Amino acid sequence: MKKVILYARGLERVLRGHPWIYRSQIKQTPPVEPGEIVHVDSERKKFIGVGFINPHSEISIRLLSRQDEPIDRAFFEKKLTQAMMWRKKHVPGVQALRWVNSESDGLPGLILDEYAGHFVFQISTAGIEKYKDTLIEIIQNYFHPSSIYEKNDFQTRNFEGLPLLKGNVFGNTPPSIEIEEDQTRFAMDVTQGHKTGFYLDQRDNRKRLSSLVQDKEVLDCFSYTGGFALAALKHGAKNALAVDISNEALQWGRKNAQLNGVMNRWQDQEANGFDLLKRLSMEGKKFDVIILDPPSFTKKRDAVQRALGGYKEINLRAMKMLQEGGLLVTATCSHHIHETLFEEMLLEASCDAKKMISQIYRGTQGLDHPILPAIPETRYLKCFFYEVHSL
Ligand code: SAH
Repeated sequence: MKKVILYARGLERVLRGHPWIYRSQIKQTPPVEPGEIVHVDSERKKFIGVGFINPHSEISIRLLSRQDEPIDRAFFEKKLTQAMMWRKKHVPGVQALRWVNSESDGLPGLILDEYAGHFVFQISTAGIEKYKDTLIEIIQNYFHPSSIYEKNDFQTRNFEGLPLLKGNVFGNTPPSIEIEEDQTRFAMDVTQGHKTGFYLDQRDNRKRLSSLVQDKEVLDCFSYTGGFALAALKHGAKNALAVDISNEALQWGRKNAQLNGVMNRWQDQEANGFDLLKRLSMEGKKFDVIILDPPSFTKKRDAVQRALGGYKEINLRAMKMLQEGGLLVTATCSHHIHETLFEEMLLEASCDAKKMISQIYRGTQGLDHPILPAIPETRYLKCFFYEVHSL
């Protein structure tokens, strides 16, 4: 195994358990191939760990182990087993879930999701890519899947010098897969949909909403295929309007509304969420419940202020459009928008809207997307539920 030497200063984060080593932290490295396994020492000869190196990437090394152990099939079997045990213990009895969540499970660059026996994986690092065939075999042996689909057509693979491709690698992945979550049925297209087909990470928050919607009029803004809207309708909401910029997502939403027998209470509108909130509020439209689950407004730290402006705009409008005592469910999936920052922005929005907000629930991603305090990036989803009253 080739040896890489790191500067001793600035290693605190890594020594506390973060797996990333930046190019600027490397003092000395032999010539290496992207994805090669290396042995990592500090310049004081202290052993740090073993990991993948990719000289093309700003995050040059991702550690896999703090032990001096071989990275082979047995290693991946051990990691998969740990990830499986965690889900069996903490996320039992669901049909759709994330079995492997990259750094959260000590496998940087591997995502593995299941939809009722059908598996989808994504690989974002050159290191994991080298073990693709091994991993497919392990998935077959461990999960006995009906099918496995490789969804590796996302742009960030370019950073690691990996080709963009997708396709079936085992069995047959049907064009529509159906799952049930908390008594609500969802059909999805894993090949064309966002992520691996569904926003699994909002499962707990959709469930929490279900107990708060009886006879309510609901607006689900940035709805995708209607996750929150359908959960609400299935649990007694009077009606729901799903809004998304993607017509395709809404078509799946409609299909799901039919699947759940709630089409008579479902409405959808293809629109830019910002414009629609503005228009509806100018028309004086009111709702009992508004859900705001937009895409991340920033993927970079230096754009946080601008992103906060965007979040504030939609939240302020939503607060004004709620009936007295109505419910705001508001989320951000940007790890750069820390919880306190998000909450502070929401407080400012409420002041500007002349409202008082009372927190009902503070949620995050489900336990199949584990949060490791040593890796702050693993804590990305924040979801607040507020009752909104006039000041
Ligand atoms: N709540 C959903 C997930 C929402 S993901 C669920 O539980 O399944 C965010 C959605 O916002 C995506 O579907 C995306 O198409 C949509 N979107 C992105 N920009 C938008 C915009 N400007 N206006 C409306 N929708 C937008």
